[in-house]
Amino acid sequence: MVDLRLDGKVSLVTGGGSGIGEAAAVLMADNGAKVGVLDFRQDAAEKVSKQIVNRGGSAIPLVADVSNPEQMNSAIGQLVNEWGRLDIVFANAGINGVWAPLEELDPQEWDRTLAINLKGTFLTVKYAIPYLKERGGSIIITSSINGTRVFSNTGATAYSCSKGAQVVFTQMAALELAQYKIRVNAICPGAIETNIDERTEKRDTEEVEVPVEFPEGSFPLEGGPGSPQQVANLVLFLASDASSHITGTPIWIEGAESLLRG
Ligand code: NAD
Repeated sequence: MVDLRLDGKVSLVTGGGSGIGEAAAVLMADNGAKVGVLDFRQDAAEKVSKQIVNRGGSAIPLVADVSNPEQMNSAIGQLVNEWGRLDIVFANAGINGVWAPLEELDPQEWDRTLAINLKGTFLTVKYAIPYLKERGGSIIITSSINGTRVFSNTGATAYSCSKGAQVVFTQMAALELAQYKIRVNAICPGAIETNIDERTEKRDTEEVEVPVEFPEGSFPLEGGPGSPQQVANLVLFLASDASSHITGTPIWIEGAESLLRG
């Protein structure tokens, strides 16, 4: 029997207030983990934390911007103060940011996407390491098919660069942290039904779009986008001891979408 239970473990989930982070926080708590639900939207962190407690689990909300070193150091400290340890880190917070032709994309817009998606991943991992080192642990990083297998979302260059670099980060960190029995893996979702698109700014992308059409749709396996719960199942596996020999690996979870679109 495969044991996916996380009893006695403490988990940090960034971007836990919505979408993939919310589904993973709830599933990890359902499987026995105590969860720190971190988001820069306080209401969202509190809502998901309450949802977990109402289901009989343990969670606390943590309010921080993943791109801010002081806030991240203090939020992780707060989580460890509460439950005395840290075992699992789901570095998942991210934004699509602004999608625009390169000559129109402002340098500040580029910086913001990279600051949240890439520097945010670094800061989340950096401040968690001292606690994870005590007993070993599992870090899961949310990358994407964009920047790893798909390069046809023209206009999404900043996003794709941040997501591609997260896989490089995963591999560098996996080797560096192996001596402490800390595993580091990346998940690369295709289109997943969340609220991320509501927070995306697209500007003049049609000017640089490469027209490609898939008359039968671009989701070969299931005919549509994935759900946050399907991604959460993979996160639970990577968080648990069932994946104890897996580290430094990107795993695509996208129903063959990226194989078709390339
Ligand atoms: P979402 O917008 O539903 O959730 C993201 C959460 O992160 C939100 O609650 C938001 O408030 C929080 N957040 C954003 N910036 C933050 C910051 N600076 N500090 C703290 N919290 C912050 O989006 P989602 O689709 O669940 O996205 C989660 C991750 O999945 C992202 O890294 C995204 O790039 C990745 N992803 C999503 C898809 C998709 O189709 N939805 C596909 C591939 C990868």
